Amino acid sequence: MNQTRREFLKGSLWAFCGAHALLSFLPPWLLPTAALAEASFDPKDPHLREAYFYDRLRGGLTKCGTCPNSCLIKPGQRGKCKTRVNLSGKLYSISYGNPCTVNVDPVEKKPLLHFYPGTLAFSLAVAGCNFHCLNCQNWEISQTTPDKTQNFDLPPDQVVKLAKHYNCSSIAYTYSEATTFYEYMIDISTMAHKAGIKNIYVSNGYISPPALERLCTVIDAGSINLKSFSDDIYFKLNGGHLEPVLNTLKTLRRRGVWLEIINLVIPTYTDDLEMIKRMCGWIVKNLGPDCPLHFSRFTPKYKLAKLPPTPVEILQQAREVGIREGLHHVYIGNVPGMGEEVICSGCRKVVIKRRGYTLVSLDLENGKCRFCKQPVSGRWE
Ligand code: SF4
Repeated sequence: MNQTRREFLKGSLWAFCGAHALLSFLPPWLLPTAALAEASFDPKDPHLREAYFYDRLRGGLTKCGTCPNSCLIKPGQRGKCKTRVNLSGKLYSISYGNPCTVNVDPVEKKPLLHFYPGTLAFSLAVAGCNFHCLNCQNWEISQTTPDKTQNFDLPPDQVVKLAKHYNCSSIAYTYSEATTFYEYMIDISTMAHKAGIKNIYVSNGYISPPALERLCTVIDAGSINLKSFSDDIYFKLNGGHLEPVLNTLKTLRRRGVWLEIINLVIPTYTDDLEMIKRMCGWIVKNLGPDCPLHFSRFTPKYKLAKLPPTPVEILQQAREVGIREGLHHVYIGNVPGMGEEVICSGCRKVVIKRRGYTLVSLDLENGKCRFCKQPVSGRWE
């Protein structure tokens, strides 16, 4: 891919600003399909795929097993994420091979700072989410349904083909909530692995244990949003619960999936330094001190548009708390020029320098600091 096109693709989220430009160079077989109408659901439609995890109950009822919401869904109805529909007692994902957002991003944008620095991630999303966060940054696609967005006709093999075409080392399931397009993600990931391409799960971590165990066989990295360290706040702010997310983090670590955690610091909701201290202590104890943590800056959005952005000083204080609790890699996100350097936990020298999403220098040799030979946790090449 030439530099001009790469620069164009970087940072342009298709759903909001890159759509028309991206259309101009996509082949005809990738042009958006018409939105599905509710009445038009047909199990033979290639965009419908029978769910991989669900139970069939009496009276045509289905119980979805994809995420901890465990929705009980009657015939003709959908689950909380609105991406799954019960048709005559069988549960279907309605967005298979039908993403609304397609883009090529630097892997640093996921954000992953310890995972193949300077590489590109072919990024895609399907509309829908199993959370309803008051602050959602991508609410235009996460809080709608896949049959209301303009979508690409993009089966798994074509995703892998495009990822190769654009020289992407990985495919990222991102922007909305990857768990809600689980079947599509699993099938792409399986094909991608066979083609030597890695997979990145960008998620709120709200996934059922069986679905996660299967996912762990085909993903390489998880960028997981730990929204807060309070079940009460999870319920009010996100419409979910804390414990299943903590279990996801432990499973990813146990299964050897590279993990980075993102915590959005929202004024008056998640900026309590005592809570942040408990969260950091839990990470050190359960995931180890080498698990990177990103404190991300909130910007006013959606139902929290009246709140101010997070003061930078609060983010710095949160970072200091994380370091005091024993974490080796604590970053500040969404603040240009701040917190983008990876520092060796041995000699404290900078081993990876970036400017924004651009890699400036890399002082690692075989995964070790070039200066003191201390191993630096991550996935490197
Ligand atoms: S994936 Fe969707 S339908 Fe399934 S349990 Fe979660 S919210 Fe409900």
